Formats: sequence, structure tokens, C-alpha cells
Amino acid sequence: MIQFDGEIPSKLPQVGLSIFAIMSKLANDHGAVNLSQGFPDFPISEKLISRVNHFMQQGFNQYAPMPGIKPLRDAISEKVFQSHQLRYDAEEEITITAGATQALYTAITAFIREGDEVIIFEPAYDCYAPAVKACGGLVKYASLASPDFKIDWPVVRQMVTNRTRMIIINSPHNPTGSLLSPYDMSELERLTRQTDILVLSDEVYEHLIFDGQIHESICRYPELANRSLVVASFGKTFHATGWKVGYVLAPARLTKELRKFHQFIVFAVNTPIQYAIAEYLQDKNNYEQLGSFYQQKRDIFLEQIKNSRFKVVPCHGTYFQLLDYSAISDLSELEYAKQLVLDQGIAAVPVSPFYNKQDNQHLLRFCFAKTDETLIKAGEILCKI
Ligand code: PMP
Ligand code: GLN
Repeated sequence: MIQFDGEIPSKLPQVGLSIFAIMSKLANDHGAVNLSQGFPDFPISEKLISRVNHFMQQGFNQYAPMPGIKPLRDAISEKVFQSHQLRYDAEEEITITAGATQALYTAITAFIREGDEVIIFEPAYDCYAPAVKACGGLVKYASLASPDFKIDWPVVRQMVTNRTRMIIINSPHNPTGSLLSPYDMSELERLTRQTDILVLSDEVYEHLIFDGQIHESICRYPELANRSLVVASFGKTFHATGWKVGYVLAPARLTKELRKFHQFIVFAVNTPIQYAIAEYLQDKNNYEQLGSFYQQKRDIFLEQIKNSRFKVVPCHGTYFQLLDYSAISDLSELEYAKQLVLDQGIAAVPVSPFYNKQDNQHLLRFCFAKTDETLIKAGEILCKI
């Protein structure tokens, strides 16, 4: 047999294990309070679980149709219409995906070719850039500067070339908790007008908005929606990150291309869960209070740490709170995050892995999608530091 043990040239040489996997494993290995990876530590709705069970018992256990079951696509179409007055056609413009990660990967793969440029705002969620690079695309990083992490539109305008194929936006924003404003949306509209640039809008935290602010969905801007793929996830909306069910909204001509890839990346998504969610979406009470629910969590966490030496970076959405530890340590973010687990028994996520290149900003991200008890325990630890 021919020996095959040489070095395999990596397609993604710069990519290592995701920071969420690293920090959650470290937290588990050391029994730390885990505020690192973003997931709730409280139970999901009993009613939703029993409906999944019901559909399993009823025999809904085989492949769903490739784009998702029709009742779920209908329910999403109605929900989006009621929220934003834009109607997506359930047949041709809505695709159910295995969470937002698959949705984003599929959207990037379907449209990015060798040499295409994609503008990404950093800090950026970790899965965008590797997908672009895997397609031979070039990532152009635009920075969101602290403390308010706003987009500098004149700079972005200068980054656009005739090779720019896509701009990826994310609001509410992970990891900073910042939001896009109506001004941002009109700048994006102006920038892309009369170009063939696509917009990929990651809106997984659409309901996690605080202090009376409004989610500036792409769906509120029909001209933008016409060139956009909007990604959402039921993992966030129903506290069920492990279910991995999400969707993509996009005009028919984009959805047609997206599905060419979707059918070979995953084909179809968990059938009984789709039926249960379709039913559960009928009652707005099942998701409309999410913003105030998480605002309370944010405020409990902030109250608990108000006497600590950590400095708070304002958070307007998502379930993440950035804290600045520059008054405490000069270690790098990764080293300090590891030290917190080992010495203090609390896990957070360093912000540096959300950047291509970045100096130490002394920022850690804490997930407050936790029971009040967990948040109080975390506060006690952080106040002692
Ligand atoms: N985008 C952002 C901004 C996220 O924070 C996450 C995960 N929390 C995802 C996408 C992926 O979502 P999913 O778990 O549904 O794949
Ligand atoms: N989106 C979650 C976070 O930001 C993590 C998801 C994952 O582990 N890939 O923490």
C-alpha cells in the first residue's frame, strides 16, 4: 500500500479551534461558572418540548421537504409580515436551515467566487471569514471602534471596489451588543444602490433588544431586502441553541441559488421540531417578551457587578455584556480569560478572537442568558477580583 502520511496543506491555515469550544471545555474541566459560550442555562418551554414529542409520536420522523415544512415557512412569512410589513413568499423566498451557522455558510458558498471581496465588520462573529476564504474570496475588514462600535461609513465607501460582492452585517451585534440605526441602514442602501453587491444580514438576536430600541431589520427596507439574505435562528428565540433550526429570507432569485447549495450541504432539517415550532410561533406571547426578559437579566448582572473593578461597555441587545478589565490586569485577553477560569472559577470569552488583528483592548464578553442564581454567583466572584 502507498504510504500517505505527509503534511496535508490546510485550506484554512489560520483557523484553529473556536474560542467558544475552548472556553466551554476549560469551564467544564474546572467546574467554573460558565458565562463564556452563548447559551441559556435554564430550561426551555415544557409546552414546546411536549409538542416535539407529540409530532414524533405521530410519526413525523422522516425527511422534511428540502426547503422546510410548509406550515413553518407560512408561520415565518406571517411573523415577518406582522413585524416589518414585508411579505416573503413561503414557497420561493423562505428556507429552513440547520441553525444560523449553516444558513450563513450556505449563503456565502452560494454566491462567493474566487477573488470576490466581502466586507466584514470586526469584531465579527467567528464563522463569516472562514466561509468566505473557503470559497476563495477575500475578506476586507472594516473596524467598529470602541466604545460604541459604530460603522464608519466614509471608510467603508472607500473599501468598495468593483470586486465587492457581499457585505455582511450583524445587528444586534455579537460580541459588542451594539445595534444598527436607521442612519446605518440608509447609508448601506446608498452604498449598495446601483451595484450588484449582496447583503448578508445576521439577525439571530432580532428579539433581544433593550431600552425601547427597535430592531432595524433588513426587512424594514424593501430596496435593501431585494439584494439581501436575512438569517435568523430559533436557537436564540426559544432558548434552544442545541436544536439548530434557523432560516433564510431572500428574494426568489437569490433563494433559488441558495437552495442549490442547501440541498447538498444538509438537504433538510429536523422534521418534528419544525412542526412544533410552526405551531409555537402562532402565539406571539411565546417570543414577544424576550427583549424585556433579557433586559432584566442584563440589569441583574450589571447590578451584581456594580461594585467590581470591571468597567461596563454599554450593551443594547444580544445576551452578551462586554467588561473592560484594564484597571485589573495587563494580561492579554486570552491569558486573562484563562486565568479567570483557573484562579477565580468563572469563564468569559476574550474579544480578540473576533478580530483578524487587534491590540489588547482588555475586553471580555460575558453571557447573561443565565438563571438569576448563576448571575448572582458570577457577580460575587467578579466583585472579589
Ligand atoms: N450568528 C451569531 C451572531 C451568533 O451569535 C450565533 C450563535 N450564537 C450564530 C450566528 C449561530 O447560530 P446557530 O446556533 O443557530 O447556528
Ligand atoms: N454563538 C455562540 C456564542 O457567540 C456560540 C456558538 C458556538 O459555539 N459556535 O457564544
